[in-house]
Amino acid sequence: MNGAEIERLIQLLGRLPGLGPRSARRVALHLLKKREVLMQPLSAALADAARAIKPCSTCGNLDTVDPCAICADPRRDTTLLCIVEDVGDLWAMERGKIFAGRYHVLGGTLSALDGIGPEELNIAGLVRRVKDGGVREIIVATNATVDGQTTAHYLAERLAECAVPITRLAHGVPVGGELDWLDDGTLATALKARRAL
Ligand SMILES: [Zn+2]
Repeated sequence: MNGAEIERLIQLLGRLPGLGPRSARRVALHLLKKREVLMQPLSAALADAARAIKPCSTCGNLDTVDPCAICADPRRDTTLLCIVEDVGDLWAMERGKIFAGRYHVLGGTLSALDGIGPEELNIAGLVRRVKDGGVREIIVATNATVDGQTTAHYLAERLAECAVPITRLAHGVPVGGELDWLDDGTLATALKARRAL
């Protein structure tokens, strides 16, 4: 019915988070109708991003430079280290402009169900960073989900030997809450009211 190119486009769009097959068809059609004002600029932006953006070898943030702009910023407090699950959570913290330390992106959470163990996450890099010294407080900002909590406790055990105080975001955050969905005020409160883990 449709050409192979259209089918391929729909299939790829359908793999994006939040897009089912039906939405993927709508998006594909919309793009094809707005070829010059949307589809071509989007295609160029995707190609540029795929070429230029890479993970920061220090913290795991995504940027065009390595170390990333946050790691390289001399105005940021190097003694505070905030651990987040994903780059999206780092973005949420940065959107709120509530934190001026540095980050460490784990790249997910421990999950027995999905077979994700410590080796699959950027935990060895974290331990190395903390052991290198200079960190005065580690703030664990994993989500208030079961996997997020499990990961927080694992990190507390793993980092205990480094003898750096570890805190956890106070979750005025609803249970099951993900950082990215919090309004900036709630996230700021959760950070201020962080407690020992
Ligand atoms: Zn970085």
